[in-house]
Amino acid sequence: MADSPQGRNETMTDATRHPTAHFYLRRLAEEKAQAIQARLPETLSSEEAGRLIHELQVHQIELELQNEELRRAQGELEASRARYFDLYDLAPVGYFSLSEQGLILEANLAGAGLLGLARRDLINQPFSRCIFPEDQDVYYRHRRQLLGTDTLQECEIRMLRAAAAPFWARLESVVARDGESGDCVCRVVMSDIDAHKQAEQQLADLNRRKDEFLAMLSHELRNPLAPILNAVQLLQLQKDENAVQRKARAIIERQVRQLTHLVNDLLDIAGTANGRIQLCREPVAVNDIVERAVETVRPLIDKRKQELTVSLPPDPVWLRADVSRLAQVVTNLLNNAAKYTDPGGRIWLSVQQEGDQAVLRVRDTGLGITPALLPHVFDLFTQADRSSDRAQGGLGIGLALVKRLVELHGGTVRVSSTLGQGSEFVVHLAVHAPETLAAQSAPNETGEPAARPLQVLVVDDNLDAAKILQMLVQESGHRVRMAHTGPTALKAALDDRPDVILLDIGLPLLDGYEVAKRIRQEPKLRDTVLVAITGYEREGDRQRSQQAGFDHHLVKPADFRKVREILAAAATKAT
Ligand code: ADP
Repeated sequence: MADSPQGRNETMTDATRHPTAHFYLRRLAEEKAQAIQARLPETLSSEEAGRLIHELQVHQIELELQNEELRRAQGELEASRARYFDLYDLAPVGYFSLSEQGLILEANLAGAGLLGLARRDLINQPFSRCIFPEDQDVYYRHRRQLLGTDTLQECEIRMLRAAAAPFWARLESVVARDGESGDCVCRVVMSDIDAHKQAEQQLADLNRRKDEFLAMLSHELRNPLAPILNAVQLLQLQKDENAVQRKARAIIERQVRQLTHLVNDLLDIAGTANGRIQLCREPVAVNDIVERAVETVRPLIDKRKQELTVSLPPDPVWLRADVSRLAQVVTNLLNNAAKYTDPGGRIWLSVQQEGDQAVLRVRDTGLGITPALLPHVFDLFTQADRSSDRAQGGLGIGLALVKRLVELHGGTVRVSSTLGQGSEFVVHLAVHAPETLAAQSAPNETGEPAARPLQVLVVDDNLDAAKILQMLVQESGHRVRMAHTGPTALKAALDDRPDVILLDIGLPLLDGYEVAKRIRQEPKLRDTVLVAITGYEREGDRQRSQQAGFDHHLVKPADFRKVREILAAAATKAT
């Protein structure tokens, strides 16, 4: 054996391997010889001499037999020892014995091979030397835990490999007592999990890239939707619309809204995955959320001639929540209930307070969900097999988004369903009573003509988007000027002193944040209402726009009703 577990070269003889057995055999032979000698008389008759010689020959044969047996036992021991070391060395995992101080006492071939060293270079070296410097803490914690217990301890750690890159390994260690010395020994099994870790890493990278792609895709899809939707709303304001135009406009608007809804879901799911979605939490009554959602889904429910029963508690149940995000949750659940229930079916929506939990239930008498699909309905892109006659559209994002948004609020959502008999989704959220109930003034959504014509600056590098906004603002009776870059926006602001600036963030040359900051530094523009309009929400966008001095933050496509509210409020303030 060239490289023994202890790292020494040894040639073993029978005597050195079994000193005790040999000692006894020699003693036995000597004793027999003495006994025979003691019995030897002065003169021996030839008969007696013959008997003695025979006796001696018998003892010699006995001795040889015993010797033979010993040799066979030795051979067996040797074979089993070789088998043990073969197994020990051929094992696909590294195996080490460490002293209590962490020195390597023994290593198998695989262990030494993983570390790229010969065994003799490992013996009596600290095991910690084989560990990647940044992971030393992990190793020492592992050792402390190990020495404080008699159970198996595990850790994942990067090990150094001579003349190669570090690799990920799993260490599984136990403490044992050495058979001969009684010393404490750590037995460590080391498996190479580098490929596994790399696959994990690749998966995480792919996932991140998928989320980035989804975010970019939905952003790119959403950009053209904004001006289309605004253009349709503008058409709605025309008085001389004929029946055909009205019908066509309604179709375009409905389809664009549906498309916007899908694109927004895509964008949101990517946002929840990479932390881009930040909740804007405030005290809110669940009833308000429910009302919003019902209002959104009502047209679909009516169209499918379904009956919706809403039961709300007599006293408001308060949450600290992002109203629009929770409304999105309830809308998605109601929307599904309507989609997956045949025309004429029933839907129930109820809110109850149970202890410190607000419990919201959406139940339907619809198709139900198969037991196979049920555990996966909240997974992204999960959908039931669909025959073409009940193809309902959708991308399988809605419920994944529901789950992530509820979880962002610290709540839970569960489903129960029986195929053919309907489904029930139950959302639990912590109740949060507000300290003071600030009276909330209803926003002005009437779209009444402005109290006073305002000077408005519209800034967007997308010419179509800017033009549509300009037309919409003009329709409300205000004066508008347009700009398409940061510096021209700044100049127009200084020239005109507008009352309101609708400012796109992603501008060439000088971005919207910078333009806003500079405007806020101008004393004569101190009272100008600044409205940020962003393509899509990145992490911290709202906070950044507040810091830059914006009064409002809208995400494209900016809902024109909101723009009108802001203009109306500015006009009222200015009178
Ligand atoms: P989508 O509706 O776009 O397919 P969702 O994530 O909202 O995506 O739903 C995933 C799947 O769960 C649906 O395709 C449908 O098969 C099933 N599902 C969801 N809600 C219901 C419901 N109320 N009744 C029956 N099946 C439902």
